[in-house]
Amino acid sequence: MVSRKGAALREARIVERVIIIGSGPAGLTAAVYAARANLRPLVFAGGMYGGQLMLTTEVENYPGFPSGIMGPDLMIQFREQAERFGARIENMDVTAVDFSSRPLKVFVDGTPFVAESVIVATGANARWLDIPGEERLRGRGVSTCATCDGAFFAGKNIVVVGGGDSAMEEALFLTRFGRRVTVVHRRDSLRASKIMADRAFSHDKIDFIWNTVVDEAIGDGKLRALRLRNLVDGSDYEFEADALFIAIGHDPNTEIFRGQLELDASGYIRSADGVSTNVEGVFVAGDVNDIRYKQAITAAGAGCRAAMDAEKYLEAIDFPMCEAIVPDAQLQTSS
Ligand code: NAP
Repeated sequence: MVSRKGAALREARIVERVIIIGSGPAGLTAAVYAARANLRPLVFAGGMYGGQLMLTTEVENYPGFPSGIMGPDLMIQFREQAERFGARIENMDVTAVDFSSRPLKVFVDGTPFVAESVIVATGANARWLDIPGEERLRGRGVSTCATCDGAFFAGKNIVVVGGGDSAMEEALFLTRFGRRVTVVHRRDSLRASKIMADRAFSHDKIDFIWNTVVDEAIGDGKLRALRLRNLVDGSDYEFEADALFIAIGHDPNTEIFRGQLELDASGYIRSADGVSTNVEGVFVAGDVNDIRYKQAITAAGAGCRAAMDAEKYLEAIDFPMCEAIVPDAQLQTSS
């Protein structure tokens, strides 16, 4: 459903200078920069605004907060900062885009919004195991980010699930804190590259449990143990653990861009320089283009770069369409 405010925006039939899709650190930093450049960005924040940090508790690695800050509080501050400079933020989900002609079109439930430039910052969601206890203990021992949460588990028993490069990287990183790091993998061989696998195999703090899945995260208030199940003989047992790091991959939020923007084999938006896309005037920022770092600070940096490049692009285009009235014919709806 398009809100009353959204309907009013639609009525205005203004060609926006820049539409930003997404409201994590990348989208909202882009909004701050675009707003401060007087571009009055329209931000489609999504029904669940704020991105992955809305699902975390304490954030201790975002510069400027020496005592740490709760993830949701940080995102509220990002939002307030963008609004302070005139960003218009709508908690709406973009349902389709049409980048095949000018102006660029962004649809919310069939209602079109048009713009000279678009910044895509829709993020990537970490995959979860979808097991009992996982959601309840999220931020209380269960995490998808070792860089963010590893330091909370000094001297503790840590389990990492997954057999890819991310799992090996997380396990190796977590050896700095954990007493022991146990990798639980569902098969008897790793998917990770040989070099990463060898590093993990040769680390004296890392153990492997093969052919095994995690069926339950157990604990009252914080994680205490995991229920593991051996897939070969079907046996299950409790395994003591203070932390569970799930490293089974990410899903970039790019479904609506399929056929519109170039995606790589994993579904991430392709960008030669980490900012521009294959469509002129469409820029990308944050995890939706970042298979490697996926940090709030790297996403914020990418949002800044995207907004600055969008600004340059808008300065350079021959015929500024800002605030032009769009003929009805151009406002065909799409589902
Ligand atoms: P990935 O390569 O897709 O590996 C995911 C792992 O999780 C696989 O071992 C998979 O098991 C396991 N898995 C998936 N779903 C599961 C489930 N429901 N329950 C239990 N296990 C499950 O993902 P990634 O490790 O995040 O890496 C993504 C890409 O980034 C890769 O191309 C990788 O090389 C790259 N990367 C590189 C580096 C580096 O070079 N330093 C670091 C991080 C990532 P199966 O093996 O049985 O399928």
